[in-house]
Formats: sequence, structure tokens, C-alpha cells
Amino acid sequence: MGFFDSPAELRTFLSERGLALKKRFGQNFLIDPHVRRRILVELDPHPGERMWEIGPGLGAMTELILNSGVELRCFEIDYGFVRVLRERYGAYPGFSIVPGDAVRTWQAFQSEKPAKVFGNLPYASGATLIGDFLEHRFYPGYWVFMVQREVARRMNASPGTEEYSSFSVLCQTFSKIQILFDVPAKAFYPRPRVVSTLLRMVPREVPLPVEKGELFVQIVRAAFASRRKKLQNTLAPFLRSRGLPEQEVWNRSGIDPALRGETLSPEDFLRLTHSIQALQAEQNLAHPLHLPQDS
Ligand code: SAM
Repeated sequence: MGFFDSPAELRTFLSERGLALKKRFGQNFLIDPHVRRRILVELDPHPGERMWEIGPGLGAMTELILNSGVELRCFEIDYGFVRVLRERYGAYPGFSIVPGDAVRTWQAFQSEKPAKVFGNLPYASGATLIGDFLEHRFYPGYWVFMVQREVARRMNASPGTEEYSSFSVLCQTFSKIQILFDVPAKAFYPRPRVVSTLLRMVPREVPLPVEKGELFVQIVRAAFASRRKKLQNTLAPFLRSRGLPEQEVWNRSGIDPALRGETLSPEDFLRLTHSIQALQAEQNLAHPLHLPQDS
């Protein structure tokens, strides 16, 4: 039994190093070697390719990935773990680590365009990080994430279901989600109270000329702000504040304003965004920026 397979060895190691587990960082280590192997198969690492790992912990997956000859950049929030990882893997030529909250640090490395991004993500920062990647149109070859099963279900939910949310729309618009397999709590130390799910997200190039898809995200959030309300109520203030004719938006997009946001598919939201964008562009042409006259 190796270091990563044995809760007893992990416990001893942590106490010898004076490292306490921090609940708020969702620190549950993957102790099942079969699950680690299955994840590695899904990651399909190739020598020389660039990968990122978010939240490597003590290195349960890191070691396997590095042994495949990958250039691996890790992002870890726990400075105690960062020290351990540097000691254990600092000699690997492909290894580098960025200490701190990945939500704040990842953008500095965005231009690296890794082939793959992997993360066994804690619930607290997992959804934020995934949303952040998508909103910034950050497209690696693909992502493989381990998340709480409920989060995976939300990401993959169909319109009209209870689990469907603005996060589902964001995930499904900018990526194709593939649920790979569930991982039981007993595969982790300490055991979490939830089942986890491994999923793959393959980025979709979406024709949205707006930088970072900001308008799209604003529309989706506005539509879900009150789940029980119709679009004509949830989106009206948004359209009015931009001086856009409501009826024209519905006519052009073909979206029925009596529907509720939670029944719209990602494609419907894209149509709505394109119509609003086109109307905004026409208005800007008709009423170019009014400059004050010289006095
Ligand atoms: N990958 C390891 C494994 O599978 O055994 C550990 C996974 S554990 C579920 C989550 C890891 O993410 C922990 O090491 C935790 O410290 C780290 N983490 C939590 N929030 C983070 C954040 N915002 N940025 C970077 N790392 C984070």
C-alpha cells in the first residue's frame, strides 16, 4: 500500500509536518488507486503537453500526471501543501506551482493555453472557478473536474427542471458536458458526506462578438433572478435601462415573453443575446455618441 492509499500514513505525515486539514478548503484526499488510474485514463496525458492541476493537495494525482512526462502547472491555496509539493516534485523538470487562491491567480497564466485542465475541486470554489473560466472564454483542449454529484447534475440539467439554473446555461453554452463516472465517499480521506462525479467539459466556440460574453451572462442572470416570473417581467428592467424596445426584442428573437427563464435552452439565450446585440448596434448607428459643442 503506497503513501496515497493509506489514511494512517497520511495522518502520520500530516501530524509530523504540523499540517491541519482545513475544512473550508474541502481537503479530501483521493486514496483509491483504482479511481486515480481511471482519472488518469480520462486525462490521457502525453509527454511534453502542458496541463494544469487545480488543488493538487498532497499530490495524489500530481505524481501520476508528472510520471507521464507532462508540463504540469499546479494551483494550490494551502501554503503547507505547497511546501510539501515543492519538496516532493520540485526535481521534476515539468513541475511548477502557483501558491494562493486559483480563482485569483489563474488569469495571469491564461495565455499558456494548456491542453487540459484537471481539478478535484472543493464545492466552495469549484463552481466559482468553472464559471470564471467560462465567462472569460478560457478554452483549454478540455477540462476534467471532480465535483460534488449535485453540482455535476446542475451543470448538466435540462431546461424546465428544478436543477436547471443560470450556471447550467453558462456551462452548456460554452462547453459540452460529459458525465464520466461517480466516485463514492469511501474513495477519499477524510470521507466527505457526498458522492462525487468526474466529468469532462469540452469547450464550444460560441459566436458571441461581445468581449467575454458579458452581455450574455447579464441576460442569463437577469432571466433567472426570479425563477417564477415571466421573461417580460424579469428582463423588462434590463431592456428598459438600455433604451431597447421590448416588443422588438421578442419579435426578432422569436422568444415568447410569457415564458419563464428556466424553460429557455442555451440556444434560446444565445438567440436573445444576438437580437439584443443587433438592436444595440442599430441604435448606436442611429444615435451616434453626442458630443458637446464648443462654446
Ligand atoms: N487533488 C488532491 C487529491 O485528489 O487528493 C486534493 C483534492 S481536495 C478535494 C481539494 C484541494 O484543493 C485541496 O488541496 C485544497 O487545499 C485545494 N483548494 C481549495 N480551494 C482552492 C482554491 N481556491 N485554489 C487552489 N486550491 C484550492
